[in-house]
Amino acid sequence: MPEHCPVCGQAYEPEPGFYWGAMFVSYFFAVAVFAVSGVALYYLAGDPPLWVYVSTVAVVSLLSTPLVFRYSRAIMLYLFGGVSYNPTWVARRA
Ligand SMILES: [Zn+2]
Repeated sequence: MPEHCPVCGQAYEPEPGFYWGAMFVSYFFAVAVFAVSGVALYYLAGDPPLWVYVSTVAVVSLLSTPLVFRYSRAIMLYLFGGVSYNPTWVARRA
């Protein structure tokens, strides 16, 4: 991950250890992935044996890890990093 946005120069890490809090956002995502995949498996597969739950939830969790990692950091940056989306901002080329 670069230190600054290559377009606008926004610092991606406002302070040292900033993304420590993203672990809690990531935890929320992990619980959501566990619950949604478990409940979906219950209704779609008709309550399969325990090993199917464990292996399916493990595979879904592993496959969603890159998304969870990136979105956790992005949400942390938006919530606590003082970053806000500006739809009218235009990059100036020097
Ligand atoms: Zn930018």
